[in-house]
Amino acid sequence: MEFEVIAQCHTTNARVCRMKLAHGITMLPTFMPVATQAAIKGLTPQQVESLGITLILNNAYHLNLRPGTKVLDGVGGAHAFQGWHRNILTDSGGFQFVSLDKFASITEEGALFSCPFTGHPTMLTPEESISIQHSIGADIIMQLDDVVSSLTVGPRVDEAMERSIRWLDRCIEQHERSGRQDRQNLFAIIQGGLDPTLRDKCLDAMVERGDHVAGYAIGGLSGGEEKDLFWRIIKQCADKLPIDRPRYSMGVGFAEDLLVCVALGIDMADCVFPTRTARFGVALTFKGPLNLRLKKHAKSMDRIDDNCPCPTCSTGTPRAMLHHIVTIETAGAHALTQHNLVFQAQVMGGARDAIVEGRFPEYLRTFFKNYFGDQGYPEWCVNALRSVGVDLLQGGNVLVIPGRGAKWDVA
Ligand SMILES: [Zn+2]
Repeated sequence: MEFEVIAQCHTTNARVCRMKLAHGITMLPTFMPVATQAAIKGLTPQQVESLGITLILNNAYHLNLRPGTKVLDGVGGAHAFQGWHRNILTDSGGFQFVSLDKFASITEEGALFSCPFTGHPTMLTPEESISIQHSIGADIIMQLDDVVSSLTVGPRVDEAMERSIRWLDRCIEQHERSGRQDRQNLFAIIQGGLDPTLRDKCLDAMVERGDHVAGYAIGGLSGGEEKDLFWRIIKQCADKLPIDRPRYSMGVGFAEDLLVCVALGIDMADCVFPTRTARFGVALTFKGPLNLRLKKHAKSMDRIDDNCPCPTCSTGTPRAMLHHIVTIETAGAHALTQHNLVFQAQVMGGARDAIVEGRFPEYLRTFFKNYFGDQGYPEWCVNALRSVGVDLLQGGNVLVIPGRGAKWDVA
């Protein structure tokens, strides 16, 4: 990987970086759409590429179950398998221990789970996770980590953090033995729950292994924890991670969360939210989410957003048509998924431009003003951005409310 910091915000910790991988250049900060099963739900790879997206996520756990490594090896990896010519990052499967915890028991050797198709007990070790990701051929591969829910407290959090460090060493060994470091880049995942002391310990240990890892992810968050704790952990990690490696916050996808993370020094994020909410009929816009299922859109000739360059908006598709088909016709899912991915790309692309041009604090203030209006800014965003020198409340009477902020009509 070639990684270069191009620009740094003068106020916040935001930065713009150029990351060159085996399948091309990805400019950071970026949002990575999730293609768990080697397909972005609702779109063809050609459509995804035409939206300007250069890096997507696949899931190693799921691709190992189906189609399996034999099929992937036979076709020469996941790029050829899914007809995607740009970069891929694979999640190692650690997160599935949380999302599928009914099936998994964790031992020092690995995670034991029942195959959801056959019921057979199956062991996923750090070594196997790396081998699977080698068969997939992803440009960025993730270590297998021991993940616990961000709501877990007590000694289990400590155990999972310590084990994640030991598993990182096993992943490094397996990866370096393969000799694939020139094409596939291993990322470490910082664990430690919501405990700053444990996070610090994990940071120290993993930064120490910096010669063997290409980048760092912050894991174990975005699981329903208090947002005030979320941003403090993100900031603690971003502050301590080396400047010459990409930093990836896992499972972050709401626009306001993305921009706070970028301001704190994060380069990459992923989440199923924008594509999932599209299938439920919700379009994301700079004025807040829009629920196209609601009757009030039935006669509207307005586009989702007049300024949006996505195929749905630029062809003039009215909200009335989208209301007519969303959640009923698959074309509705295509239309909104394309729009929402372009929205995510616009949020991050706008941030990159603003950082380069030295106006990122203003970009943040404008975004929050348009997005939340007078409905109320989330207090945690105000606090998080204040910690890096941006006062969202500057020059205006703005309502600040606890929790997520404005209540959208997206029920
Ligand atoms: Zn659009």
